[in-house]
Amino acid sequence: MQTHSYDVVIVGAGGAGMRAALESSSRARTAVLTKLYPTRSHTGAAQGGMCAALANVEEDNWEWHTFDTVKGGDYLVDQDAAEVMAKEAIDAVLDLEKMGLPFNRTPDGKIDQRRFGGHTRNHGDAPVRRSCYAADRTGHMILQTLYQQCVKAGVEFFNEFYALDLLLTADPQDPDGDPQVAGVVAYELATGEIHVVRAKSVVFATGGAGKVYKTTSNAHTLTGDGMAIAYRRGLPLEDMEFFQFHPTGLAGLGILLSEAARGEGAILRNSDGERFMERYAPTLKDLAPRDVVARAMANEVREGRGAGPNKDYVLLDLTHLEPAHIDAKLPDITEFARTYLGVEPYTEPVPVYPTAHYAMGGMPTTVEGEVLRNNTDIVPGLYAAGEVACVSVHGANRLGTNSLLDINVFGKRAGITAAEYAAGATLAELPDDPAGRVVAQLEAMRTRPVGEKVADLRRALQETMDVNAQVFRTEASLKQALVDIQQLQERYGHVAVQDKGRRYNLDLLEAAELGFLLDLAEVVVTGALARNESRGGHYREDYPQRDDTNFMRHTMAYRVATTGAEGAEAVDAAGIGPHEVRLDYKPVTLTRYQPMERKF
Ligand SMILES: Cc1cc2nc3c(=O)[nH]c(=O)nc-3n(C[C@H](O)[C@H](O)[C@H](O)COP(=O)(O)OP(=O)(O)OC[C@H]3O[C@@H](n4cnc5c(N)ncnc54)[C@H](O)[C@@H]3O)c2cc1C
Repeated sequence: MQTHSYDVVIVGAGGAGMRAALESSSRARTAVLTKLYPTRSHTGAAQGGMCAALANVEEDNWEWHTFDTVKGGDYLVDQDAAEVMAKEAIDAVLDLEKMGLPFNRTPDGKIDQRRFGGHTRNHGDAPVRRSCYAADRTGHMILQTLYQQCVKAGVEFFNEFYALDLLLTADPQDPDGDPQVAGVVAYELATGEIHVVRAKSVVFATGGAGKVYKTTSNAHTLTGDGMAIAYRRGLPLEDMEFFQFHPTGLAGLGILLSEAARGEGAILRNSDGERFMERYAPTLKDLAPRDVVARAMANEVREGRGAGPNKDYVLLDLTHLEPAHIDAKLPDITEFARTYLGVEPYTEPVPVYPTAHYAMGGMPTTVEGEVLRNNTDIVPGLYAAGEVACVSVHGANRLGTNSLLDINVFGKRAGITAAEYAAGATLAELPDDPAGRVVAQLEAMRTRPVGEKVADLRRALQETMDVNAQVFRTEASLKQALVDIQQLQERYGHVAVQDKGRRYNLDLLEAAELGFLLDLAEVVVTGALARNESRGGHYREDYPQRDDTNFMRHTMAYRVATTGAEGAEAVDAAGIGPHEVRLDYKPVTLTRYQPMERKF
């Protein structure tokens, strides 16, 4: 075991982590731990754009942007946070421009902007051009730009280091405790060695958890590690039942075709060739928020108007767009349609169906990135930003292009706060045997001669989530999902990996990731079962209305061990110990906008 000490440790080198690192490294001794090489982070897969009310091509302002974010999020958004994001969006884009990001330009040389779902002029009158973009490779450009800046600034990266545990000085749920951050425990992929990294501040920027589902736009590595690590250490997770299903995944595959396609004029059609969104959202049509469009698509399929031999998808029609326009604005995603489905988007409509895309929930934070341990108290030294966090700027449904914005605005804020806190703090004492939990769990899975296979359990988890906790949910379907997940957690206690080695043992790390996914799926489903209403991405067929009287509140989920028996800690470390999910709630912050019925 090796031990290191830093002022600030950032876990994750996606957009949020690297934006934080740029701020922190100029103020404090900073290390970035990342399980992927930085430029392989999922931010690099983002396509369509990053929004800001620059008003470069038509009238716009940050207040309209704030309103759209709140309404798009079905009023579960904390409005003070949305206001911060919309205001700081403008500088966030200009910061990237100054760093050298090659945005598409208007003929007179300004940053060009295009339409995206739910972004409107004057509180819903018509779609507005608010999304800044670099063709359909915006995330790629952001990630490369931030990485170059980090290299220039001399940021220290620990590449292919997997954080597996968070070290705190006390149990965050102990009423007499005074928890403070002590560091993280990480596993080095190349050697199998365990590292304890002490730090005054720790920033989690580990991204999303799309692999809870089978059909997803997310990379294989998006297993919600940061969320699950914090949750296992007694910290709450907020609003996890709100998962976004992006309307246009390639049918049967889930690979994303950016909403930029519809922003550039593509149209959704059913098997009759009908532009069905006119019925569901007469004003914004195909550019209504994602939850509305995904449900409309699923409904068309259910009612027998799906296309294809099995009538199980709808069609995204770009055939009326000029090929030169498609090539200039949407080159990558049209290539995906050719490569993966053999469809030529110039002349044929593309089969699409909703795909699990984005976790609106995550680790609850303040607008400064400080992580909350209950509704009001923070954990000194612990920060989170990006998809792992829940500020909450996305509420029950995130608007397209608001995430690339979120990671830049709140990544920057978290980096500054973490460094400033570290300047006045001392390293906390390490707990006894700091790596004990991680070593016990990994060694059990590595040395068990035979047992359950990771791939089998993961497949079963993803299938039950796709069938029972997707666009449409009911009490019965969610109960089924919960039973399935709990059985899988039990079986997870008997996992044996096939690779028994120490070097590059991805088999072992996938086993650890599966444990995280199982914990998070349980939180998603438990929160969804308790939320007897429909709001944003969470749609309960048995409670189709939004219920502001009872559910205008954030869910806060805690993992509670249900035994004090000796050895419980070791069992718990594997994510299988007897435990339950305890739900609590937190008020939504309202400032300017009173909830009203959403019409688009
Ligand atoms: C296909 C696709 C297209 C998208 N398009 C858009 C778009 O056009 N506009 C928009 O606003 N949003 C878009 N999104 C959403 C947006 O890209 C993501 O929400 C955002 O980039 C997440 O950034 P992040 O920094 O939080 O996480 P990520 O970029 O996912 O980075 C996570 C980092 O954490 C590290 N990590 C994870 N676990 C560990 C661990 N245990 N130990 C160490 N390191 C760890 C990883 O190595 C990685 O560096 C898209 C998403 C997808 C999947």
